[in-house]
Order: sequence, then C-alpha cells, then structure tokens
Amino acid sequence: MYYRKAIVAIADGLGDRPHPLLNGLTPLQKAHTPNLDRVASQGICGMMDLIAPGIPVGTDMGHLVLFGGRPDDYPGRGPIEAYGIEMDTRPGDVIFRCNLATVDEYGIVIDRRAGRINQNTVELVAAVNGMVLSDKVTAYMQAATEHRAVLVFRGANLSENITDSDPKAPHDGKPYVVPQASDNSEKSLQMADLMQLFLNKSHAILDAHPINTERKRHGLLPANFILTRGPGRCQPLASVPQKYGFNGCCIAGETTVLGVAKLLGYSTHSHPLFTANISSNFQLKAERALLALDNNDLVFVHFKATDLAGHDNLPFEKITAIEHFDRMVGLILDNLPEYTYLALAADHSTPCEVKEHTGEPVPVALCGNGIRQDNVVQFDEYACAKGGLNRLSGTDFIHTVIDYMGYSQKQGS
Ligand SMILES: [Zn+2]
Repeated sequence: MYYRKAIVAIADGLGDRPHPLLNGLTPLQKAHTPNLDRVASQGICGMMDLIAPGIPVGTDMGHLVLFGGRPDDYPGRGPIEAYGIEMDTRPGDVIFRCNLATVDEYGIVIDRRAGRINQNTVELVAAVNGMVLSDKVTAYMQAATEHRAVLVFRGANLSENITDSDPKAPHDGKPYVVPQASDNSEKSLQMADLMQLFLNKSHAILDAHPINTERKRHGLLPANFILTRGPGRCQPLASVPQKYGFNGCCIAGETTVLGVAKLLGYSTHSHPLFTANISSNFQLKAERALLALDNNDLVFVHFKATDLAGHDNLPFEKITAIEHFDRMVGLILDNLPEYTYLALAADHSTPCEVKEHTGEPVPVALCGNGIRQDNVVQFDEYACAKGGLNRLSGTDFIHTVIDYMGYSQKQGS
C-alpha cells in the first residue's frame, strides 16, 4: 500500500443562493475563480451535505465532520471555544460560548456583536473574570476572536441544562432571553439563577467601564452585555489522526475551528495575520499549508471571510472573499508537491439573503493523481451538482480523501 498527502482548503459558509443583486447568480458563480475552476476541471466534483440534506450545521459541527469526527461526539460550543483559546478548564466546569453585545436600558439587544468589536476586548473581559457568584461558584472569562469570548462556571452542583441568553441571529432588536432550566432538576434551576446573576452583575460592570464610555464618545456601540450559548462540559474525544495512523494539522485564524481540530487530535497552526476576516493574509496561509506538508499527511487550511459576508448579507463582499480564497488555492496548487491531493470544501451554506446557515449542500472538488476526472469545469453550486462525486455526506467526503491517501481501513478481509 502506498501513502499520499492531501491539503483540504475550506471556505467557511461558501454555499449560497441566487441573489437579486447578482442577476440571480450565487456569489460563487459571479466571482472570478480561475484557480477553483482549475481544481474542478482537473478533478472530481460533487455536492456535500455535512450531515444530511436540509440539516443546517454550525461551524463547529461542520468542521467536526470534515475533520473525521462523529456528529454524536459533539460536546457543545462552549468546550470547543475553550479548547480553541487554550483556556484553563477543569473536569466538572460548565463552559459557554459568548458574544460581547450591546443592549439598551430595557435589555433589548441592539447588536449581538457590539458592532463587531475587535479592540480592548481583553480588558473588558478581564473586568468580569473571577466573579464570585455564590460561596460555591465562580465565573471565569477569557476573550476569543473579535466579539467572542468563553465563560466558565466552576464549582459545585453545576448543570449544563440551561437555555441560551443569546436571542441568536437575526434577532437583533429583541430582548435577551432570560436563562431558564431546560430540565426540572434543582441543579439546573439554581444554574439558571446563577446565570441571571452573572448577566446582571457583568452588565453593571461593563456598562460603566471606561472603555465603553470612550466607545460611546466615538459613536461606537458599547460592549455592555454578555450573550451566552452552547453550554457543555469538556470530554476527551478519540484522536482521528491516531485512528488512521497519519499526522494531521489544521491552519486557521478562527478559534472555533482550531478548537475542534485540537479536540479531535490534530496539531494546529495559527498566526496573528490570520485574522479570521477579509484582512486575513491568505498568501501566508497558503505558504504555511504547504510547509505543514513536511510533517503532516493531511493538512486543513481554513478561510473564514466568506461566511462573515453571508451573515451580513454583503454579496459583493462575499465575492471579494471568494476571490481571496481562490488566490490562496492558486498559490497552493502552483506549489503542490507531486502525489499530493488538493480538495476544496465548505462547512455549510450561509446564503446572504438568509444571513444564517442553511441546510443546502456545498460544492466540493478533489484533484490529484489517479482521480476519476469528471466533466465539471467550474467550481460552483450548479456545476458541481453534475460531478462524479454526486451527492455525498461530509463523512463520505473525508473518507474519500483519506481513502485516496491510502489510510482507509478495509472492511472485511
Ligand atoms: Zn462556518
């Protein structure tokens, strides 16, 4: 048996729908993508449902599947974020993923991301870190990418069964959700009360914080509230690279993606210039992906800006993001070592008009030695539907890549 290497380039939230501002084309159809089209025309294409048709997934679940994990192993968003930022956690902690947000004096969420705040978040979060909520429970908090943060409740009698306080997109303009127990246990009822206490105390501290006073003076939204979601407890998962016997690496700027990769046993590589938005240095990312092949067999390289433009309904910005992704893929393709596969994938669709993830399939392509090339010459949601990979699940897709690499496990004898 021979072994080969592969790079999988993932454009977050790539899939879209026909957009009226683009004459009924999708951003991917409209964008100039000579390199993505090169991969499609040299390889085999298809449409991928991460789990199943019509089932939308989050970035965390989408990557868990792409990295070869089982959807049933999903531990909750909070623990994944904590892994991503390497936050100190302990067994028994209940961990939440959070947004720094803006609320008015009535608790109405003006902006779920506090104007996509990306400065001074470390100082703001430090102001509520270590908050004592009872004689048994203390809250710890650490900033993540941009408006994101991780909250840990540590102590006795905790429960992860409480509702999210985040009203979630597209519900700016609605009040935050008062946390409630999602089962009838005493622990969960107490946990909901503790969360309400945390929300009230942190709001009072943040609203009066000098950084927010300064933001208001400059006409910026204050980051004066913490929206919580995705509670869960840390649980170690089986390493995917170990299961197959290869070395795997993930290159990304987004902590969620890095967290999922770490959780599944991949090594990770990030850089301050991987900003997880349109300013991300895609040239450096391509360089690092190629370099990672020295010590790894399977390298994932993640690109985030496509998803952000979808969430903000900015089809032209999504086109620009796709063209950056295209150039990153071009740099990889031009320098790809012999006998190395290159795959294109996405973790879900984020149609601009919906501003949220949907369950439509995403285009995928795979090129390299010995591939059964199909007739598809463009990489988009329509052309790839006619490809040789047909319609497959995320698990099928990664199994296919691993099989071409020579690491799949034969069934039977
Ligand atoms: Zn995503």
